[in-house]
Amino acid sequence: MSDKSPNTTWHAGAVGRSERERLLGQRGATVWFTGLSGSGKSTIAVAVEALLVGQGRLCYRVDGDNLRHGLNRNLGFSPIDRAENVRRTGEVCRILGDAGVIALASLVSPFRADRNMVRALHDEWGVPFIEIFVAVPLEVAEARDPKGLYRKARAGEIPDFTGIHQPYEAPEAAEVTVDSSQVAVDAAARLVVAELRARGIVA
Ligand code: ADP
Repeated sequence: MSDKSPNTTWHAGAVGRSERERLLGQRGATVWFTGLSGSGKSTIAVAVEALLVGQGRLCYRVDGDNLRHGLNRNLGFSPIDRAENVRRTGEVCRILGDAGVIALASLVSPFRADRNMVRALHDEWGVPFIEIFVAVPLEVAEARDPKGLYRKARAGEIPDFTGIHQPYEAPEAAEVTVDSSQVAVDAAARLVVAELRARGIVA
């Protein structure tokens, strides 16, 4: 990523993350759901959001499709655009994490290198990054086809579709792997919240 603003200086604030976290009674973190389209990333993220808010925690869903309505609307689905989509989404998440918020990101993010780059961004700031691999056989995701995208991709109406024209590179060391063809939505959401508790993100 080329740096076109070399003459800028980081301006520190008078209040740090730990003070914001104390205000909120939680740690900022990113929960990053990755998996095929239709694997259940958004569905599980919504369930996690409901559980966390029910426990008085502040979280915010950063849905890949939603960001493509605004911040990322100028990006397509080529590998280069996907990398930039993941990078911007990762930047948004680490800012939320620095604000003390639990960001729930759901986007296919099919390339390992792009996800690892986002993990590195988080490591740089010391914001916990928790990768959730929503693993499901392609046949199951395609049979669900909640948005009709597989049908369109098979009909040749979508050219860059993950799982059909482009690969999905499964994580090698996700913090949590959940097979949504075996685990129900609410059970998957509880697994994620348990992971947050185990890591001290929420008490
Ligand atoms: P993604 O965000 O990964 O593209 P969605 O959450 O939009 O996927 O769609 C997943 C679909 O699968 C939804 O229609 C959801 O109701 C269904 N589904 C069935 N079982 C599960 C499960 N155990 N976890 C998540 N989604 C499931």
